[in-house]
Amino acid sequence: MDPNETERFKAKQDRGQRLIRQGRERFVQEMSSQLSEINRLLEKAGSTGDFDSCKALHRMFHTMKGSAPVFGLNRVGQLAEDLLHKWEWIECGADAATAIPEALTQSKALMGQLVMEYEVCKKELALDYSGISKERPTMAGSRLLIIDDEEALRSYLYRRLELDEYAVTEAATVEAAKQLLHDQHFDLVILDLMMHPHSGYDLFEFLKEDPTLKWLPLIVLSGRQDLEDKMQCLYLGADDYVTKPFQYEELAARIYSLLTRSKTYEQMAFRDPLTGVYNRRYMDHQIQSELQRIQRYPSPISVAFIDIDYFKRINDTYGHAVGDQVLQGLANLLNHQSRVTDLIARYGGEEFVILMPGTTEEEAEKLLAKLREIVHQQPVAKVNQQSYHVTFSAGISQWRDALSAEDWLRTADEAMYRAKKNGRDQIIISKQGVEQPETPAPHQRTLLIADDDEILRNILVTNLSHLPVRILEASDGEQALHLLQNNAIDVCILDGVMPKLDGFALLQKYKESSDERSVQTKVIMLSARRKEDDVVRGLLLGAEEYMAKPFSIVELEIRVTRMLQG
Ligand code: GH3
Ligand code: MG
Ligand code: MG
Repeated sequence: MDPNETERFKAKQDRGQRLIRQGRERFVQEMSSQLSEINRLLEKAGSTGDFDSCKALHRMFHTMKGSAPVFGLNRVGQLAEDLLHKWEWIECGADAATAIPEALTQSKALMGQLVMEYEVCKKELALDYSGISKERPTMAGSRLLIIDDEEALRSYLYRRLELDEYAVTEAATVEAAKQLLHDQHFDLVILDLMMHPHSGYDLFEFLKEDPTLKWLPLIVLSGRQDLEDKMQCLYLGADDYVTKPFQYEELAARIYSLLTRSKTYEQMAFRDPLTGVYNRRYMDHQIQSELQRIQRYPSPISVAFIDIDYFKRINDTYGHAVGDQVLQGLANLLNHQSRVTDLIARYGGEEFVILMPGTTEEEAEKLLAKLREIVHQQPVAKVNQQSYHVTFSAGISQWRDALSAEDWLRTADEAMYRAKKNGRDQIIISKQGVEQPETPAPHQRTLLIADDDEILRNILVTNLSHLPVRILEASDGEQALHLLQNNAIDVCILDGVMPKLDGFALLQKYKESSDERSVQTKVIMLSARRKEDDVVRGLLLGAEEYMAKPFSIVELEIRVTRMLQG
């Protein structure tokens, strides 16, 4: 059939279906009043022996018998016909006095069934509205490969499947199919068994040998009805078998069933349930097959390890549920920012891996730098109007000759750990054993948070960690002083009241003990005390700012940002 004609045919068919659906809807609506009218007439005929009522009943059953099947309500039609038979004596002039009671008794049971059928129809209509029952579902966008040497059938299937929104590719020979399977990814294969010069059986071997194609859903089309053939196909690994000639609708239903099932299995076996990205098992498998592919078609390939910084704190401070949303948010971001050929997996708790075929380490770094930029700019999760920012540390490694999959991944992982050690929120490219000095991290400012309140510290860290800054923490005054004296601290958030050494005494000692360093450190005093002499004391000791608890995190963030820039 010519393609335009097929489309016209489909449009016409759709219109027909729509009309039937509308008709059915009206019919079922009207059936309710018809049933009460029938009951009224039955009662009247019973009590008064009224012949006109009997005639009216006969007429109504006759009409119902004729019209119900037009709208696909075959059981209603059948019951109306059965009822009609009980009242046909009218036409042959039987004695009403004896016929009516008999007809009434027989009609009673049938009426009960008709009412039940009416209820069923109403339910089906409701399902129809919700789009579940009658609309033929498809797995739109799934990639199908049709292998058939018969041009007419192949192109007919091609058109029909395309109209059902599948992405369809055709092959006329087994050889062409092998090439396509090799180069592209498909979700399902429809294979004609009887082909020349190679039969469809050749393809079974090919699919079975390749670990990446082994589980590809396969439907066999065959002109042969015999049992042996069917059995052989199923034993060889076909998932379904359809004999020609077949109804398109049946094939479509089988395709749909196989695709939904394999999607569910894939989801269960290969996906991480929390984030929807691939799991470690699938990633390991894909890495192996990508490395095999590279042996045949050399091209660069890179892998990146990404680990969220200070993720534990998000859990500890805001709860596991928020932690989960942060993981989902980051996974979404990775999905949206990477290319279709990139593969993303959750490798461990808060660790993700991106496999980037056809990508050099420099190109991979660009992608990661873009991701880093984005997490600095926008929150990865929003829960109840509260935004959550994170940073990550990443290690990148480009595959080099003879490197095993394990060693390759290890180099990326090691690079990621170096990024952690260097102060986090950075990306490091693995040099794979070549001893090169690490590229010095861009001058990074350091922030010290000294507060004995762990929850407050955690809140501060999670809210400030997206800033380009290294964050150190102290939970008492002595620890804070030690850190101040041994690190170049640009900004210090200092709690006034702390164990071992309070904020004021600490400031005093710091000023006395070290010279230049203490001048460079800008201090924000936090205190629960609002007394004026406390404020004055803090400021006199050299604190830049004084904020009374409870304070606004947003305000603090603005002040810290300004100080870090200045
Ligand atoms: P670092 O910057 O060194 O990576 O510190 P970190 O806190 O991110 O790393 P650490 O390995 O100490 O903690 C990881 C935490 O991730 C611990 C664990 O409870 C949490 N985690 C692991 N899986 C899940 C998960 O599925 N959901 C949530 N909410 N948390 C998880
Ligand atoms: Mg982490
Ligand atoms: Mg970790």
